[in-house]
Amino acid sequence: MTAHGHIPDEWLVSYAAGALSDAQALLVATHVDYHPGLKARVAEAEAIGGALLEGVAPKPMKTDAFDDLMARIDMLPDDEEAPAPPSAAERGLDTDIPPVLADYLGRRLDDMNWRLMGPGMRQCRLAKGKDGECLWLLRARGGTVMPMHDHRGTEFTLVLRGSYHVGDQQFTPGLLEIAASDLKDHQPMIDEGEDCICLVITEAPIRIHSLLGRMVQPFIGL
Ligand code: ZN
Repeated sequence: MTAHGHIPDEWLVSYAAGALSDAQALLVATHVDYHPGLKARVAEAEAIGGALLEGVAPKPMKTDAFDDLMARIDMLPDDEEAPAPPSAAERGLDTDIPPVLADYLGRRLDDMNWRLMGPGMRQCRLAKGKDGECLWLLRARGGTVMPMHDHRGTEFTLVLRGSYHVGDQQFTPGLLEIAASDLKDHQPMIDEGEDCICLVITEAPIRIHSLLGRMVQPFIGL
């Protein structure tokens, strides 16, 4: 069972094993950064994966291992600590999104090259992967009703700012919606208030129901 808005464990295992596409890995790393519990599960998957590769069972951690580690860290001389890299704020990047994504974008969300996508909607294409996979940002004004559509592949939507609803499920910053390829009549509704900005992966172009939407689609390339 997957908790609402969170990545399934199989994905965390693939992520830990380095088996995801670049776009998927960025999305998972960004999603995981919001949830300390998921970070711990990734570390667990990495430990198990490493043990499997070495053909040995993972060693149980000694109960006092953490204290030992802290004691060793305490003994490190201060002057040997590497200087901290400049923070996102010092580099003029957004601080309300995970650093892994802020670094990847290299500029603030407000300064991205937003292009009109439809009424109240803008998009910014980030990368094209194999087999039609596309990584992009969606920016939709509060109160916007997204065009109803079906999918030709899985669609991953990670909220960065604002929020939206699909039926009675709300997606807020850090939550991930996974719309499977067989999900029909998908129509997210942006909640009133600030713009909703999401990091999105579409495995293949969506199929918009309205004629107008289908006419516009070739121009936006999603
Ligand atoms: Zn969809």
